[in-house]
Amino acid sequence: MTTEPPVIEISNLHKAYGSLEVIKGVTITARRGDVVSLIGSSGSGKSTILRCANLLEDSQQGDILFKGEPVRWTGSGLNRRPADPAQVLRIRTNLAMVFQQFNLWAHLTILQNVMEAPVTVLRRPRAEVEKSARAYLEKVGIGDKCDAYPAQLSGGQQQRAAIARALAMEPEALLFDEPTSALDPELEQEVIRVIKDLAAEGRTMMIVTHDMKMARDVSDHVVFLHQGLIEEQGDPETLFGAPRSERLRQFLSSTM
Ligand code: ADP
Ligand code: MG
Repeated sequence: MTTEPPVIEISNLHKAYGSLEVIKGVTITARRGDVVSLIGSSGSGKSTILRCANLLEDSQQGDILFKGEPVRWTGSGLNRRPADPAQVLRIRTNLAMVFQQFNLWAHLTILQNVMEAPVTVLRRPRAEVEKSARAYLEKVGIGDKCDAYPAQLSGGQQQRAAIARALAMEPEALLFDEPTSALDPELEQEVIRVIKDLAAEGRTMMIVTHDMKMARDVSDHVVFLHQGLIEEQGDPETLFGAPRSERLRQFLSSTM
């Protein structure tokens, strides 16, 4: 029995792009140590939910709470914006995002990529940041690539560098948006291995993925989205083993 508020609480979220309503009332909670996977067809709203959660996107209705602290808004409807830039920065740095396309800085070495935000955004001492950056690169298995540039690494190594970069922010949670989609199958596995290790450590994570095997293996909770709404959700054994909705059954058979 815990009274600790969830790390991430998204409550009745609504989001439109202009007149196109893409999230139509979605509630998702991740408690400390939870791994929550979001699955669903392309265009169902998975990326948008992650981007709204860490305030990369505005939303029009609903609450987003970080460790029980609600985002404060100003304005309403399509004019709703977070009211407090310091709160946005705090939430964004605590919900570190890992993208499909890695988004490493091409002109910086791998070590410099990992050190950049802790030094410039968090203003941590450089020597201390370097020490932990090297340790995170070691942890994801590319400790020998500190001085390489992103273009000199394989896709799987670049994605592991991006994960080290996220970890270096010492965030409360990690948000993954299709972390293996840009990778060849043999390189996917090395990234999945790292994500599994993070899950086993009890990291709080939200993972958008097309990889049903990974979702089944690492998740505590799986959310199936359809056209901006939660169609079905549950623990992975039930959701994958005994799907109730016809749409989920069709989706799962299309991904096998
Ligand atoms: P998913 O990640 O599940 O594939 P997205 O969250 O990217 O889905 O997209 C949900 C819907 O929002 C889709 O219909 C998509 O076309 C639309 N969408 C996403 N980003 C934008 C944008 N920047 N402008 C307009 N529409 C967008
Ligand atoms: Mg997406």
